[in-house]
Amino acid sequence: MRYFDTDFGPMGVSDDTLGKGGRGKVLPVMLAPPEMPQAKKKLVLKQVEGRWRTEGRQRKVACLERMGRGAAQGKTLPAGCAVAWPVTSAYEEGRWIGFAMRAMEGRPLDAVKADGAIAPAVKVRQARRACELVSALHAHGVVLGDVSLSNFMYDEAHDRLALVDIDSAQVADEATGCIYPTTESREKSPEMLAGRMGEVVLTSRSDDFLVAVEVFRLLFDAHPLDEYAADVSPAEMRARNATACRFGFANERRCCGPDAFGRELGNLFRRTFEGPYELIPNAADYAACLSGLERQAFETCPVCGQVRVAVAEERSALEVAPSGLSVRRVVGGLGFAAGASVMAFACCACMPELAGFAQEAAGFAQGATAALDGAWHEARLAADAACGQVQGFTEGAWRLACDAAEFAQGAASAAQDAWESASPQVEVALSKAAELADALVEGVFDLASNAWGWLEDALDAVAGASDGGGADAC
Ligand SMILES: [Zn+2]
Repeated sequence: MRYFDTDFGPMGVSDDTLGKGGRGKVLPVMLAPPEMPQAKKKLVLKQVEGRWRTEGRQRKVACLERMGRGAAQGKTLPAGCAVAWPVTSAYEEGRWIGFAMRAMEGRPLDAVKADGAIAPAVKVRQARRACELVSALHAHGVVLGDVSLSNFMYDEAHDRLALVDIDSAQVADEATGCIYPTTESREKSPEMLAGRMGEVVLTSRSDDFLVAVEVFRLLFDAHPLDEYAADVSPAEMRARNATACRFGFANERRCCGPDAFGRELGNLFRRTFEGPYELIPNAADYAACLSGLERQAFETCPVCGQVRVAVAEERSALEVAPSGLSVRRVVGGLGFAAGASVMAFACCACMPELAGFAQEAAGFAQGATAALDGAWHEARLAADAACGQVQGFTEGAWRLACDAAEFAQGAASAAQDAWESASPQVEVALSKAAELADALVEGVFDLASNAWGWLEDALDAVAGASDGGGADAC
C-alpha cells in the first residue's frame, strides 16, 4: 500500500491496478481519511499519466469536485443515475497526480449491448438514462465530448447507470469563465469533424448527436452511419455520412429499418442523422421518447434478427418481401386461368361455345406467359434484395429468395399447364368446324343434285305435255 496526500489527510492506495485508461490507471483506495466526502463508500484513485498532469487538468478536476458536491446536495441527477465525480485531488510530494472517485460497479454498456440475455426493455431503460445524464450534465455546463457506451456502467444489482471518465469532458467553470477542453473522441460529431479538437469549443449539440449514435448502437447493435461500401473504411464512411447528413443505415435495403422501435424514435433518428445539424433533437427529446417505449413488448424479427417493438399481427414472409404481393397476384392469375380451362372442358357440347372457350383459354395462356416473365423479374428483384441483406447479416433473406424462386417455378409450370390444356381444345374446335363445313357442303350438294333431278323431271313433264298436245292437234 502506498500513501498519497489529499486535502483531507493521507490516503492509502493498493498497487493492484484495476484498469488502464488512455491517460492513466485506476487503483483501489484501501484507507480513506475519515473527513473525506464519501469516505465510507468504495473509492478508487485515478492516477493520471505523467505527461497529462497539466495545470489545466488539475483545475478542471477541482471544478468537477465542486460540481459533484453541489449535485449531491441539490440532488440534481436523474433517478437511477450516478456520476463518478472526483471527490478529492491526490498529491505526491506536493505535486498533483490525480484524484479519488467513487468506484462504479457493473458492466459498460458495450458489454450490455452484446449480451442477448438482457431484455430489450432493460436496454431501452439504460438508453433513456444515458440521455437523461447527458441532458443533466449540460445543465451543469458540462459537455461530455467523448460520448461512448464504454463510459456508461450499468449496475444490474442496483439497477443503476453511472457515467465514468468525467474528467475527459469539456467543463465550463462558472466562477472563472474558463472553459477546460475535452479530450479526443473516437466517435465524431459534425462540429468535431469541421474543426480541430482542442481548438474548438463544443456546443451541447455535439453530445446530442453522439448520444443518439450510442442509443442507436445499443438498440440496433449497428452503427447508424455505416454503409457497406467496399472501398471506404468504416471510420471514413461514418465521417463522410455525418458531414453529408446521410443516415447510412436507413439507406440500406432491409426489412426492419429505423422504425423497428416505433415511428416516433425512427423520426428522431432521421432528424438527427439527416439534419439539418442546427435543428437536431436533443438528449431530453430522446429521453422522453424512450421512456414511453419502456413498457412496450418486444420481439425478434424472424427474417433479419433485429429486435423490434412487437407487431400485433403476424406477417407472412411474402408480405415482408419487398415485391411479395405482386408475386402472389401473378400466382393467383394463373390459378384462375387453370380454372377457366377446366370449365371449357365441361362445356364442350356445342361448338360455338367450345370455340369461344378455346380462344379464352389461349388468351389466358398468353397472359400467363407474360405473367411468368413478370414473376422472373420479381424473383430477380427479391434475389437482389436478399443479396443486399445477406451482406449485412441474414440467413432469412436466402429463405425469401428461395420462396421467390419457388413461386417463379410454380408460375412456369402453371403457364405450361394452361397452354397444354388450351391446345387440344383448339384442335377439337377446328375439326368440329371442318366437319360442319363438310356437312354443309354435302347438304348443299345433295340439295343441288335433288334440284337437278327435279328440273330434269319438270323438263320431261313439259316434253311429255307438248308431245300429247301435238297428237291432239293432228
Ligand atoms: Zn426484419
